[in-house]
Order: sequence, then structure tokens, then C-alpha cells
Amino acid sequence: MKKRLLLHVCCAPDATVPYQRLKDEYEVIAFFYNPNIHGEEEYQKRLHEVERLAKLWDFPLIVGEYNVEQWFSAVRGLEDEPEGGKRCEVCYSLRLEETAKLAKELGCEAFATVLTISPHKKAEKINAIGKEAGERHGIAYLESDFKKKDGFKESVRISRELNLYRQNYCGCRFSMR
Ligand code: SF4
Repeated sequence: MKKRLLLHVCCAPDATVPYQRLKDEYEVIAFFYNPNIHGEEEYQKRLHEVERLAKLWDFPLIVGEYNVEQWFSAVRGLEDEPEGGKRCEVCYSLRLEETAKLAKELGCEAFATVLTISPHKKAEKINAIGKEAGERHGIAYLESDFKKKDGFKESVRISRELNLYRQNYCGCRFSMR
């Protein structure tokens, strides 16, 4: 029997390659939890595309709370940080903490995130944060660097093929500048 893994998903294009790479070894459950996304309309657009992919590829999807206020209060004072800086660390941490907590509640064996597929994000930083969240909740964090072996390029190819919406900014209001 395959181990169950809760996979934090931020958008459909970024979920493509991670899902394909994990699905043979794990029973993957996707978790869309992204209170960082600025604007309800943008949030719904990204969520809709993840739902479409989940139907198309037949994997279960859990949608987390869109608790924008909690996100803003977590990053208060870090608004002017550059992308990849301290604000992003808090943003990764908030999302991975919630994923670890839910993975434990669901009785999964591990959790992971698709965030490491982004060429703009450092996998080491995300993995360190994921590991700490896993230790806090007593659940294994699966380290990844999905951009490796042309992972990002492949995600662009699949997204075009499936006509998935791909945004041109990370997510929060501050990443739109
Ligand atoms: S730039 Fe992206 S990762 Fe960084 S805080 Fe904004 S949404 Fe989060």
C-alpha cells in the first residue's frame, strides 16, 4: 500500500510536475492553502485551475481557509522586503505549518510542497522551514527541489498543453510591484 502524502499546492501549473513525480510512490492528497494571494478574484482563479487539474488527473483536493487577515498580520513590518527575503520566509512558514498540522490530523505519513518548483524560490530555505514545521507536528517532511531535471520547464510545457492559467506574479500584493 502506498504512503499517504499531503501536498501543499499554490497553483495548478506548479502542481503539475510535483504531482507527476510523486504519484507513483505516494497516494497524493492536494491541499490548496494560500491566504497570501492578493484579491479574491485572483484567488478564485488560481483555485479554479487547481480544481480543474484535480478533476482531470483524478486526485483528491482539500481547500484551506482564505484567512487573509492572519496572513497580513504575520507579515506586518516586512512589506518592503525583497522577493525571496524575510516576508517570504514567514509566508512559506505559515502555509507549511498549516499543511503539517492537517497532514498529522489526516493520518498521512508525510507532507511536501510544490513551492520548490519555482526558479525564484530557494529550495534550501523552503525545505528548512518544512522540516521544522514537520518536527513541531510530529510528521515527516519530504524535501524536494522540483525545479531540478528541467522540472520548471516541464511544468510550463504541461500547463500550455492543458491550457492552465499561469499568473505573472507570486501572489501577495507586494509581489505585484
Ligand atoms: S512574494 Fe510570494 S512567497 Fe513572498 S510573501 Fe509574497 S506571496 Fe509569499
